[in-house]
Amino acid sequence: MGRIILTGDRPTGKLHLGHYVGSLRNRVLLQEEGNYDKFFVFIADVQALTDNADNPEKVRQNVIEVALDYLSAGLDPNKVTIFVQSQIPQLHEMTQFFSNLVTVQRLQRNPTVKAEMALRGFNADAEEENRRGLPVGFFTYPISQAADICAFKATTVPAGEDQEPMLEQCREIVRSFNGTYKCDVLVEPEILLPSNKVCRRLPGTDGQAKMSKSLGNCIYLSDDPAEMEKKVKGMFTDPGHLKVEDPGKVEGNCVFTYLDAFSEPEDFAKYLTDYSCLEELKDHYRRGGLGDMKCKKFLINVLNDRLEPIRARRHAYEQDIPEVYNILKKGSEVAAQVAAETLHQMKDAMKINYFDDAELIASQAAKYRK
Ligand code: ATP
Ligand code: MG
Repeated sequence: MGRIILTGDRPTGKLHLGHYVGSLRNRVLLQEEGNYDKFFVFIADVQALTDNADNPEKVRQNVIEVALDYLSAGLDPNKVTIFVQSQIPQLHEMTQFFSNLVTVQRLQRNPTVKAEMALRGFNADAEEENRRGLPVGFFTYPISQAADICAFKATTVPAGEDQEPMLEQCREIVRSFNGTYKCDVLVEPEILLPSNKVCRRLPGTDGQAKMSKSLGNCIYLSDDPAEMEKKVKGMFTDPGHLKVEDPGKVEGNCVFTYLDAFSEPEDFAKYLTDYSCLEELKDHYRRGGLGDMKCKKFLINVLNDRLEPIRARRHAYEQDIPEVYNILKKGSEVAAQVAAETLHQMKDAMKINYFDDAELIASQAAKYRK
């Protein structure tokens, strides 16, 4: 079997620089390399509803935002199937079958789910004051995510490191399904992390461990230059670096983390000719004598350089929104066919294909015939 790539995002907001370096940039590179048999990218609206059940309008509005972000980042619907999760009903059937193979205790051990529950104030014990009860759908979303991956027999999932526990859970489900039903219908996927380590979990502009929509510390791909500039100027640096002459810390300093993620050696020749590379800039900052603002201005130039083509493509697609919906509709039709084929194979393996099984019908007939 060849390489099948699948990845997606929740439509709970516009996509930000964390999504870009964690997954989206890699997807565009993979698309351009062309070394795959099939490539699926999806908007996980069903998953978004697991913690936004009371706000479907938010999800509805953000489906188009995420689609625009995909297309503007360079995903090409002629090379990649872009679809919407809720339009593939087979995924929900698979989720149901998989949920019989996973224990509550196993789900409770998932560290990403634990962290996300804490962030959202969901607690298994709803009695506790000021806590929201934990929706069953949210608690079990790793199972639905396994269905998303398995339906397409994905071998490769480009994602940030917060997805590692999800992929592990998915591989366990694959082994359990194939083992229980003595088949090789499902395929174990591998995560594809960005090779640049800082991109696996880009921190927020406030210095928090992860840039995340839920934490409100994001620079969005669709931010205009003025907004982006304002966010960079207010970015967390080294709180001990008060005067320009002071020696500064590079580790944990967002400006340098972002330069690690985004700058290229050519940017120095273009925007900061006093230095030949990032290491020289870092050394100067460590020694003292280099102000935050100079580094921030350089970062603003670098980000504008990367974001300009994305903004231009977004502007073009924004002029033809019906076509964007059409791309999603066509992609969803293609994806539904693939998922239906896998579900069919799963049901065969589980022997819940009663009406297709002539042998079963004949043997039951023989058993009851008088
Ligand atoms: P939410 O707060 O709604 O969960 P999110 O910002 O965490 O949103 P997701 O839609 O959960 O975004 O993540 C989609 C993809 O982007 C995943 O592959 C995830 O690993 C990656 N990703 C998200 N945030 C970051 C980040 N800060 N650094 C690297 N990758 C990230
Ligand atoms: Mg998330």
